[in-house]
Amino acid sequence: MEKKNLRIETKCVQGGYSPASGEPRQIPIIQSTTFKYGTSEDMGKLFDLEASGYFYSRLQNPTCDTVAARICELEGGTAAMLTSSGQAANFFAIFNIASAGDHVVASSAIYGGTYNLFAVTMKRMGVEFTFVSPKATEDELRAAMRENTKAVFGETIANPALTVLDIELFAKVAHEHGVPLIIDNTFATPINCRPFEWGADIVTHSTTKYMDGHGSAVGGCIVDSGKFDWAKSGKFDCLCTPDESYHGVNYYERFGLAGAYITKATAQLMRDFGCTQSPQSAFLLGLGLESLHVRMQRHCENGLAVAKFLKSHPNVTWVKYPNLEGDEYYELASKYLPDGSCGVVSFGVKGGRAAAEKFMKNLKLGAIETHVADARTCCLHPASATHRQMNDEELMAAGVSPDLIRYSCGIESAEDLIEDLREALESI
Ligand SMILES: *Cc1c(COP(=O)(O)O)cnc(C)c1O
Repeated sequence: MEKKNLRIETKCVQGGYSPASGEPRQIPIIQSTTFKYGTSEDMGKLFDLEASGYFYSRLQNPTCDTVAARICELEGGTAAMLTSSGQAANFFAIFNIASAGDHVVASSAIYGGTYNLFAVTMKRMGVEFTFVSPKATEDELRAAMRENTKAVFGETIANPALTVLDIELFAKVAHEHGVPLIIDNTFATPINCRPFEWGADIVTHSTTKYMDGHGSAVGGCIVDSGKFDWAKSGKFDCLCTPDESYHGVNYYERFGLAGAYITKATAQLMRDFGCTQSPQSAFLLGLGLESLHVRMQRHCENGLAVAKFLKSHPNVTWVKYPNLEGDEYYELASKYLPDGSCGVVSFGVKGGRAAAEKFMKNLKLGAIETHVADARTCCLHPASATHRQMNDEELMAAGVSPDLIRYSCGIESAEDLIEDLREALESI
């Protein structure tokens, strides 16, 4: 049996780790900051990237690498790394190829934390972003591209707007300009969509969400498709000329298409910023991945059942769920997410902000949390929580209306969730 041809369910359970005879069946937690060597010369080779191995867990750790390899297989990439959070993953994914003076085009329908990272913090670092509608046409996308544009960014399913990105279209325009498309695939997970199959070049994740799935560990991941040719457009000297901070290594020449991007992110960004995931957290993430395919199916079944119920309720003004017939993104979801999207449903209740607050307080199963995409059902009013730094105009651009409630279906019984929703809706 050819291991690379395994189906995604098998990769969830066995990907990235093949213990030899007598070795632990479960991924070992290598809770060690450092690794011992016989001679300084042996260790020097690791520092020079001439040999592969571990020397300090800020850069690489075997537990983290094993779990990253599992996610890499799930996405169908060539190299991957874990980060301390989804925020760190998106920061690294961009900053690895864009510095002061560069420009990035991003969908405006993205996670609030990512929007802030791009529009405020990375702007302070000199990287400028142009935000485009997730529904931008080919011409509108082209118009946003500049000479110094280094990447295009979007989310497969936006959190919390639940817009579905036309990945093929965004990839086409990015590639015309010789830059990669970076996709945050947190909500869809590789179970429901593998962006590389649609032309994306880099995928990021907040593993804090469905991948971990149990609200136990904050984490992130970056995966490289290994398909983007960094030398072709002449725009990525950062990967194709010697890195003086790393003994003059040329990542592109030394590690090729398959490894250049992740090796640079590890050798430079992890070295300097240190946003590492702990081996303990990586272990929990590995456990979560084992049931990802089973859980995603139930999240999606519950999501659709809840969306249909809400749509029929007189106290609900509108419902968004990509797989709900009649949804604005139903067509795109049928193309990119034919097996289901996610467990998150957004909707508005009659009576605006005050009614939304009352409704959420009266839920017994759906807990008010900043969290989302968890085995336990939770809900949030983004305009007063995650997106509160945005004004109404920015909220609308991000696809978040002031009355939007984000309801994240867990893997409980759909009947129980609907009963809970019915009682809370009737109380307002
Ligand atoms: C939560 C989230 C992030 C940020 O991830 P953290 O792990 O909380 O840092 C990024 N992108 C999306 C789509 C998210 O849902």
